[in-house]
Amino acid sequence: MISAGEVHLPGRPKDIVGLKALAIASQRWYDNFRPSGVKVLAGAPVIEEGMVKEDFKTLSEAGVKLLGEVGLGSVKAGDTAKEMVAWAREYGMQSTIHTGGPSIPGSGLIDKDVVLEADADIIGHINGGHTALPDDQIICLCEQCARGIEIVHNGNERSALLAMRTAFELGQPERVILGTDAPAGSGVQPLGILRMIAMLSSLGDVPPEIAWCFATGNTARMRELDCGILEVGKSADMIIVDQAQHAPGKDMLESIHQGNLPGVGMTIIDGIVRSDRSRNTPPATRLPEIVV
Ligand SMILES: [Zn+2]
Repeated sequence: MISAGEVHLPGRPKDIVGLKALAIASQRWYDNFRPSGVKVLAGAPVIEEGMVKEDFKTLSEAGVKLLGEVGLGSVKAGDTAKEMVAWAREYGMQSTIHTGGPSIPGSGLIDKDVVLEADADIIGHINGGHTALPDDQIICLCEQCARGIEIVHNGNERSALLAMRTAFELGQPERVILGTDAPAGSGVQPLGILRMIAMLSSLGDVPPEIAWCFATGNTARMRELDCGILEVGKSADMIIVDQAQHAPGKDMLESIHQGNLPGVGMTIIDGIVRSDRSRNTPPATRLPEIVV
């Protein structure tokens, strides 16, 4: 799980010492705390005006490797954002920019001109969080910015399909990554990424195995993770899934292509079985067994 910024923390400090302290503390406690073994990449400061290059150096040296969504703090102008994103990149920190209308009080409109000028690594929730940009701006961002195209659950689903189709038209589906943008006003979606896969595959008529790649390999490559791809030397992080019981379709992939969730039979993180049959997904038809 990747934090887009600890933006909803009540009383979030906005002074520079405070926001740096929060980022470092967040990174540390999720490094130490792994619920059910889940890796939470947290400590993503929401940048504020007044930060200087040295602040990014300090954060990076302290282990903070992400910026929270640019635009949720006071940095909303393209030129300031561009300067800070470049400082972050220089010190090995990844950046994401809020895209679209305001999400919470205090955030603002970030339109295509600001996104293009800031040049963050990821065009965060290109389909809005919640309010999407007009279609022509979404198409323009896909065409004129070579960065990652994040499509999220807590956004506009029609705009999600537009962004995905535009990426395919450009011959650049490898740029598409999935997120939930949770928590948000519409909640925290259990199974959010699985729901995104089923939605894009079915309504967007994309082969389900390709939609899986948005959520796994694409995200891992763009976020520089050591999971998401099964390969010698990578973390053994995986889920074992099968067609949900009584779901339509001749097999799991066809079932997903028709818009249905698969059933999760097991989760494995770092090669260790962390859970067996999910109580959140519909039950899988076949379950994995551990044979020793
Ligand atoms: Zn946002």
